[in-house]
Amino acid sequence: MLKKKFLFLAAALITLILLAACGSQGANGTNNEDDGKVQVVTTYSIVYDIVKNVGGDLVDIHSLAPIGSNPHEYDPLPEDVKKTTDAEAVFYNGLNLEAGNSWFNKLMETGGKEGEDAPVFLMSEGVEAMYLTSEGNEGEEDPHAWLDIRNGIKYAENARDGLIKVDPENKEVYEKNAEEYIAELQELHDSAVEQFNEIPKDERVLVTSEGAFKYFSDAYGFQAEYIWEINQENQGTPDQITRIVDIINDKKITGLFLETSIDPRSMEAVSNETDVPIMGKVFTDSLAEPGEDGDTYISMMKWNIKTIKDGLTDGK
Ligand SMILES: [Zn+2]
Repeated sequence: MLKKKFLFLAAALITLILLAACGSQGANGTNNEDDGKVQVVTTYSIVYDIVKNVGGDLVDIHSLAPIGSNPHEYDPLPEDVKKTTDAEAVFYNGLNLEAGNSWFNKLMETGGKEGEDAPVFLMSEGVEAMYLTSEGNEGEEDPHAWLDIRNGIKYAENARDGLIKVDPENKEVYEKNAEEYIAELQELHDSAVEQFNEIPKDERVLVTSEGAFKYFSDAYGFQAEYIWEINQENQGTPDQITRIVDIINDKKITGLFLETSIDPRSMEAVSNETDVPIMGKVFTDSLAEPGEDGDTYISMMKWNIKTIKDGLTDGK
């Protein structure tokens, strides 16, 4: 009996020591792979870039879903599990984005980042959710909030608040970085509004493969049409193609757009069927490779604004 009690006390003591060790790691923003930077995990490239802009040199970020891929679905690698376990902060989009096969929730479970106190931060906190309407998806949140730059500003604020929470010593740096970045985003949003206002409202119709442009359309006065509403298993079925072909013919649409992170074949089929050309590629769920146009959130939004504006006005 006495021995049991001793073992219990010893276990409790070890736990306390471990907790104390973890606590001090979190507080001074370092960990075992110590380069003095806050160890951060982000779920995909757009969240990566926004957190990077706010965290600057103080953060070391491991991003999960690779550039060019679709973060709705992802199979974490052993390295991702390790990085998540070691992370001092995790940032994710939420709004049903990282939901395919519950990959994100499962990873947080495996990486010990569960529970209310876990340093896991929702980038879309405070964003007013829009909802899916297509059959089988009704009432689910639409994840693509970042395509409205005003929401990008909220993401930057949430990145700032999350980083300050895990690394309060550098509060002022995060605040300054965020302020400068948000000013740039605000300027870009204002310029987008101005440029799109030059297109007559009834010509502001955007046809893409995935219906990723709800928030964008709300912000910039567009109607958004799509082949399928959200990336999932059934993409580009004959029924979906027939539906969008009818809409394109009905609305006399003159230009289609293709996303960089989506298989082009469905949109090419729609283009062939309707004789309406694909006017360009837009970024939705991923940035471009580093060094290319669209390799940051700001650059991808600039690219989208120009491609859509030119695509809907050229030759008119
Ligand atoms: Zn998407």
